[in-house]
Amino acid sequence: MEFSKNEIVDILKDDSQNNWLFSLADRVRKEYVGDEVHLRGLIEFSNICRCTCKYCGLRCANKSVKRYRMSPDNIINTAKNACNAGYKTIVLQSGEDSFFSKEVMCNIISEIKKFDTALTLSIGERSFEDYKFFKQSGADRYLIRIETTDRNLYEKMHPSMSFDNRVRCLKDLKTLGYEAGTGCLVGLPEQTVESLAGDILFFKEIDADMIGIGPFISHPQTPLKDSLNGDFTLALKVMALTRIILKNVNIPATTAMETLNPEGRLIALQCGANVIMPNVTSSVYSENYDIYPNKAHLDEDIINSRQIIEGKIKSIGRTISKDYGFKRKLNN
Ligand code: SF4
Repeated sequence: MEFSKNEIVDILKDDSQNNWLFSLADRVRKEYVGDEVHLRGLIEFSNICRCTCKYCGLRCANKSVKRYRMSPDNIINTAKNACNAGYKTIVLQSGEDSFFSKEVMCNIISEIKKFDTALTLSIGERSFEDYKFFKQSGADRYLIRIETTDRNLYEKMHPSMSFDNRVRCLKDLKTLGYEAGTGCLVGLPEQTVESLAGDILFFKEIDADMIGIGPFISHPQTPLKDSLNGDFTLALKVMALTRIILKNVNIPATTAMETLNPEGRLIALQCGANVIMPNVTSSVYSENYDIYPNKAHLDEDIINSRQIIEGKIKSIGRTISKDYGFKRKLNN
């Protein structure tokens, strides 16, 4: 289904057709990626970050966050426990932490790949060469959200970072054969629906394989502390349109959705999403992975969180995938 930018803008502005939009996204999800939900075990292994993204509680200028860095052995053991609990994908996520050099990461990647799992990295902007070595060590996927395709807003929100370099990263990842994930924040100050429509068209243009969409949530220790939170329904609409337009991509029901609405992830699963990323990091660490406040489900251990989430997924008539959950091919 093709939509022009103007048509996307009209849909985003008009709430009278939301039920139609959400049920169409759910039908497209069922047709192109089926009823299975892929569970990805998320390990937040370092909250140390050199960047100063204005919306993020982990920005280096925030001195009130307790910083941590898991050791490589601890990361590998956490991944092993998650694999033993049934996860078929491990996601390694961190701030931009220079301790995790190419060599350190390649060692962690090759150790984790000895378990029966796909591996996703979400560790920020790196050189082509780093991405190449990570891939050769066994990494399958890489997440790097563009956050907004409005270049001016991007550069306002990300001091000392460059929009072009962010796009370069995504293009390098596609060139190297990764499944590349991107996505956006919905509700950033000064963001327009026109730029959100541009975000969706960018996901298509770049041929993204995974797309994570989350509402902006104001963090008290950031320059955006007085800004209003993003709107849950608008974030859901951006996600639903992404499903309808990109069809077979993998789309997580993001934790940020659940922070704004107690049933946010289940609702998202019924509006186009087909992935959940339960946090399998020990709560000793994850409670300090404070990108935004009141993150959902901080205290669950690996087995419990999996059982709770599996129960919720089954309650809406969906099944749990037992495979690695790579992007399904289109038949046409
Ligand atoms: S959004 Fe990511 S890169 Fe930016 S400050 Fe937060 S952890 Fe660092």
